[in-house]
Amino acid sequence: MAVENLWLFFNKLSIPVSSIGIEKTSMLNNKMLNAISMNKQGCPICGFADITVLDDFNCTTFEICECCGSESGAEFDLRSTPEHLAKIRLKWVKQDNCKWWGNKKLIPPNWNPKEQMELANIEIPQ
Ligand SMILES: [Zn+2]
Repeated sequence: MAVENLWLFFNKLSIPVSSIGIEKTSMLNNKMLNAISMNKQGCPICGFADITVLDDFNCTTFEICECCGSESGAEFDLRSTPEHLAKIRLKWVKQDNCKWWGNKKLIPPNWNPKEQMELANIEIPQ
């Protein structure tokens, strides 16, 4: 291979390598967005507010949501994608018909699961 062709060869190679670099950066940003979208307080599945899902070190608490029965650290954690959360949510809404999972005494007065999700800025599965 002539020196000139060799240079062209490497030059061609450098284009895909740099585009991979950009992809990696945006993937990292998406992961960071996921992390930000999950709050320490409140269930990321059903929006029930009275549950602490992450501790001060952003570790899952293994608390179980009284409302939908999802467990922090078992069903979801900081690395869960919005798609994964939506899948669990869909099951709770469609299969379980938003059934209250835990102690019935803890059901808030005038409880409305759809309103609860709306308040928590959670997309309601259609
Ligand atoms: Zn829940």
